[in-house]
Amino acid sequence: MKWLERQRIRYTLNHYPIPLDVWEGQLQTSDLFRGLTAVERAHLRELATLFLHRKTLNGVQGLTLSTEMAVAVAAQACLPILKLGLDYYDGWVEVIIYPHTFRVARDRTDATGVVSHEALALRGESWSRGPVILSWDDIVTDMAGFRSGHNVVVHEFAHKLDMLNGRANGMPPLHPNMVRQQWTKAFSDALEHLEQQLVHHRHPGINPYAATAPAEFFAVVSEYFFTDPLTLRHHYPVVYDQLVLFYRQVPADR
Ligand SMILES: [Zn+2]
Repeated sequence: MKWLERQRIRYTLNHYPIPLDVWEGQLQTSDLFRGLTAVERAHLRELATLFLHRKTLNGVQGLTLSTEMAVAVAAQACLPILKLGLDYYDGWVEVIIYPHTFRVARDRTDATGVVSHEALALRGESWSRGPVILSWDDIVTDMAGFRSGHNVVVHEFAHKLDMLNGRANGMPPLHPNMVRQQWTKAFSDALEHLEQQLVHHRHPGINPYAATAPAEFFAVVSEYFFTDPLTLRHHYPVVYDQLVLFYRQVPADR
C-alpha cells in the first residue's frame, strides 16, 4: 500500500503540477511566503499540488474560482503543514469559498437554558470532519497584509489541526518531543494575561478575538506565527516557542 501510495503521489506531481508561473505569481502576492528557501518553496508547491487533488474547492453564491485563486488558497493552507505533511488534513475533503463575509443563523443555548436565535457574519469557519468555509474578500485582504497578524486561511486550517484529536480546544496532537504540561502552561498563562489586559482596558498585544476561547487563542496565535512572528515572540515568547516545536518551523528567522 505504501509503495502504491508513493507511486500515486509521484504520478500526480509529475502529470498535474501547479504551473510554475502561476505558482511564483501567487507566492509573490503575499509576504507570508517571504524568506522560504528554494527547497521549501518547491516542497510547498508539491504539497499544494496534492492538496488541490485531494480536496474539492467550491466557490458559492456566484463565485467562480480561477486556477490562481485555488492556488492562493492551497499555498496558504499548506504553509502550516510544510513540515508536518498533508496527512494532517486527512478526514475531510471540501473547502467552500464565499465571495464575501457570509451570514449564518444559529440557535444558541445559554447556561440558564435560554435558546436564542443568532445571525452572525463570518469570515471563515471550520467544521469537525466537515468543510472549511472561507470568504474570498478576506483572503485577498489578508494576502495583501493590510491587517497585521491576520490570515483567515491559516486561522481556519489551524482549527483543523486542533480538531485532529477531538473537539477544538487549543490542544492539537503534540509531537513525541513535546511536553503536554509545557504547552498547557504556556497557552493558559498567555490567555489569562490577554484576558487581564482586556479587563483592565489595556491595549492588547495581539488580536483580542484570541481571548474568546482556548481554540480561538490557538488559531489566532497561529495566524501571528506565520504572518507576524516577531510580534507574537515579543508578547508571548513561550507560546511562540511551543509553536516552533509544533509546526517545526522558525518563521521569526525568515
Ligand atoms: Zn476561529
